[in-house]
Amino acid sequence: MILYKLRCSNGHDFEAWFHDSASYSIQVDCGDVVCPFCSDTRVGKAIMAPHIGRHHLSVEGEQSGGGERRAREVAEHILSGVSEQIVANYDDVGDEFTEEARRIHYGEAKERGIYGEATNEEAAELEDEGIDFCRLPFRFRRND
Ligand SMILES: [Zn+2]
Repeated sequence: MILYKLRCSNGHDFEAWFHDSASYSIQVDCGDVVCPFCSDTRVGKAIMAPHIGRHHLSVEGEQSGGGERRAREVAEHILSGVSEQIVANYDDVGDEFTEEARRIHYGEAKERGIYGEATNEEAAELEDEGIDFCRLPFRFRRND
């Protein structure tokens, strides 16, 4: 477990436990880390894109501690919740992720949440173009 000091866009400082740095990235990028003072989700390096979508998991209340085991349960809950939410609500675009994210960003495709695969090079290109996305440290099992 890692304890991070975070700051929301309104300048509030708070602390939160994360399973590891990858969990931190996911939770911040997906808007799951909530400022306990003003409920702002723009904490740390988080930038929300309109097409990424949102869901309703929160680590609010966990920043005051509660033990490593509890924090680990929360982290695992959030990780599994993220994958379930994404599979249930987002379009699987597979290898087309980079192209589809670009089409959505430039208004050439319907705005919606998508997930899929991209190489590190493709992800770097998307970042360069200012297209926001979440990196997930696991693969989804495809229904088909
Ligand atoms: Zn705040």
